[in-house]
Amino acid sequence: MGIQVFGTPVSRGVAIGRAVLVASSRVDVAHYFVPADRLEHEINRLRNARDAVAAELEALQRDMPGDAPGELSALLDVHLMLLHDETLSGATKVWILERHYNAEWALSAQLEVLARQFDEMEDEYLRERKADVEQVVERLLRFLSRKGGDGAAPPLAGAVTGARDFAGEDPLVLVANDVAPADMMQFKRSVFTGFVTDVGGKNSHTAIVARSMDIPAVVGAREASRLIRQDDWLVIDGDAGIVIVNPSPIVLEEYRFRQRQSELERARLHRLRHTPAVTLDGQAVELLANIELPGDAAGAVEAGAVGVGLFRSEFLFMNRNGDLPDEEEQFEAYRDAVVAMQGLPVTIRTVDIGADKPLDRGGAQESRHEHALNPALGLRAIRWSLSEPGMFRQQLRAILRASAFGKVRILVPMVAHLNEIRLTLDALARARQQLDDNGRPYGPVEVGAMIEIPAAAVMIERFLAHFDFVSIGTNDLIQYTLAIDRADEAVSHLYDPWHPAVLSLIAQTIARANARGRGVSVCGEMAGDPAFTDLLLAMGLRSFSMHPARIASIKQRVLRADTRRLEAALDKVLGAEDPAAEAARRFSQPS
Ligand code: PEP
Ligand code: MG
Repeated sequence: MGIQVFGTPVSRGVAIGRAVLVASSRVDVAHYFVPADRLEHEINRLRNARDAVAAELEALQRDMPGDAPGELSALLDVHLMLLHDETLSGATKVWILERHYNAEWALSAQLEVLARQFDEMEDEYLRERKADVEQVVERLLRFLSRKGGDGAAPPLAGAVTGARDFAGEDPLVLVANDVAPADMMQFKRSVFTGFVTDVGGKNSHTAIVARSMDIPAVVGAREASRLIRQDDWLVIDGDAGIVIVNPSPIVLEEYRFRQRQSELERARLHRLRHTPAVTLDGQAVELLANIELPGDAAGAVEAGAVGVGLFRSEFLFMNRNGDLPDEEEQFEAYRDAVVAMQGLPVTIRTVDIGADKPLDRGGAQESRHEHALNPALGLRAIRWSLSEPGMFRQQLRAILRASAFGKVRILVPMVAHLNEIRLTLDALARARQQLDDNGRPYGPVEVGAMIEIPAAAVMIERFLAHFDFVSIGTNDLIQYTLAIDRADEAVSHLYDPWHPAVLSLIAQTIARANARGRGVSVCGEMAGDPAFTDLLLAMGLRSFSMHPARIASIKQRVLRADTRRLEAALDKVLGAEDPAAEAARRFSQPS
């Protein structure tokens, strides 16, 4: 039946396709398909790169001082030989001609093949030559990215785009040791139909972006990138967290059947998108969207979202080679999202930089981050913003200005201290003052706090005195309550949303906010997981924010729920030894 690799399922469904192995350090290499009439040109790019690197190496050899060690010259000889070797240059050409990969992608695909061959060599000396091939490929890639290989600017790094106009194309799935959230964004509008990574937990930001792409994904599959070879056929079972390598025809047929079934189910759910989310007993429920970029807003409306409950603005700051968006650029991005939502509210979270989303910028902040002993507990989110008051006010001004175009709400991540609340509200008052001074228009904006640190949930009453609404970030609330790094697959089995301590903090936050008449929403992954819909409804939640792709399934649960019956069972579930089992027993819905 083929080798099976087990990991953590993070995004549902079945994907079947050929493996594209990408080394983590090369994820930011451009990946795109070359149309048939440009293949010759692409081969020329590769040839130009090879000639330029050969000239570079020869010049190095020529200019080497007389007293340089002889090994150095011998090493350059090895590099020159590798550069011209058929297993590198000939085979790379084949990837271009047969697969229509661009030169960079073809080179990294062939490097993966060669690196594995070297790893398997008995002889230690030969095994160590892998580093030489890597260095030669690095030189070629550097040349290609510098010049586009032909003087033309290369397409967006990492993006897999382009015409697929050649016959016999196979679907592709990405296999990598790890993919950073920023790189994942590059793949967002790509052709990959599934993802497998060796590391990562279910609620890492990488997993969250995979879910927002609504394609099957398995993370934490430990040995996957070692066991899987370039071009292997893979089945990704995103429900069970299994990857099957080179499946037998019978297994493949079974999974193709399941794939068709889930497509039919998707089409059925899609028909619910304009149905209002109202429970059987008449309770209206607000289903909002989580987005990462303004371009996601149109998909949110299309999926039937009644607003954006979480715009993760930090993604605007990624993949920019150190060039951060200024006030104008941010304003345009926020305004575009607001306009695309056609009058529906947009909740913009101030940047949540740090932890697994480091800022893409040279200089002091980045090095401070790199040296953080535990970034998840370090300078992250509002702590980062308050340490950069100029940038914080710039973002606040941009958000305020976007509010002249529609309903905007500001959401502040990771607040724990009352002092942070005071400083945030002061910064906002100054940003408003600056806009007034410059005659810039802005509208009324509600301000809310994310409740994602246990301290905030415990003192929710005091938070409610300062904010118009709160949004519960269950991903971090679970991480910080249980002291489990959400991105670390080694402890992912302990990451438990059903833990009684977590449930009690969520229930208490919802109840107190409702009692005070303040808006309360959940925007963590629990909101988009149908396993928790009844529980959250029972707790009194009437606002859920999730990836647009999850809205239809959650709506289906809401339409079948009777909140009176759910509320009556809540205490038993919260007080149970095993809340998950108790909830399954007491909340079961007619299917
Ligand atoms: C959360 O922590 O639940 C949340 C929504 O924020 P993020 O996942 O971006 O940390
Ligand atoms: Mg969070």
